[in-house]
Amino acid sequence: MSELENLKKTILEQYPRLDKDSEFQFSCHPGVSCFNHCCADVNIFLTPYDVLRLKNHLKIDSQEFLDKYTQLVTDRNQQLPAVQLRMTDTETKHCHFVDFEKGCAVYQNRPWSCRMYPVGQASPRETENSSGQKFYFILHEDVCHGFEAGKKWTIGEWVKDQGVDEYDKFGELLKEITFHDFFDRGKVLTPQKVEMFFLACYNPDRFRDFIFGTTFLKRFDMDDKMLEKLKTDDDELLKFSFDWVKFSLFGEKTIKIREEVLAQANQKIK
Ligand code: SF4
Ligand code: SF4
Repeated sequence: MSELENLKKTILEQYPRLDKDSEFQFSCHPGVSCFNHCCADVNIFLTPYDVLRLKNHLKIDSQEFLDKYTQLVTDRNQQLPAVQLRMTDTETKHCHFVDFEKGCAVYQNRPWSCRMYPVGQASPRETENSSGQKFYFILHEDVCHGFEAGKKWTIGEWVKDQGVDEYDKFGELLKEITFHDFFDRGKVLTPQKVEMFFLACYNPDRFRDFIFGTTFLKRFDMDDKMLEKLKTDDDELLKFSFDWVKFSLFGEKTIKIREEVLAQANQKIK
């Protein structure tokens, strides 16, 4: 079992399960002796919404962002790829976005897990000993001195202060895919479907090309207003990408096939 899987197991089995009213004491600011120490040699998983916010912050194309700043790992299903922030190839293995004097250079658009730290969130569905509800926990790591003489927070206050609401909204949509019962039924995705999942969820600029630059619009019946939004609104594009993934991976009726395409397909079957 990898170090990361061991940590997940320990969290699920041994960490106190906290809720939004649970209290903790914490302060993080440039005056702490450990300032920026947590931004090196660390596993940071990026959600599709994290990728969107970061690539827009950097004003670069999603393919360029993925190539320069990420690496792929496999998620809980051992089928879908998951994206991690790649650290620099230096001795310190620090994050590409850390500014050693000022802190995080992408602060307004930093990833979900950087916002939440030292609070984490776990889903008991990740273990066979599942007892239901997701829960919060606090990570106490030696590197972090923010607990000493820190301000008092409830977890609910911390979550609000760190601006994670929008991130959570998209996180829930992603979980509908990664926790889909398709996987619980032991079904296996083809490599083409895995590629489609990755394109739609993590590479929004290429996914937009897929919609507007292929035969997509000849095959699927799309509302004109929605199409206009998909051209420029990245949040709408991401919501649509989750619908597309449910359609193309699991056969859900989240996207409408054009009548004439269906008729042609029926003709061929006859
Ligand atoms: S994104 Fe920002 S907060 Fe997160 S590890 Fe990098 S520098 Fe640190
Ligand atoms: S180690 Fe903890 S206190 Fe220090 S900079 Fe990171 S989050 Fe803040």
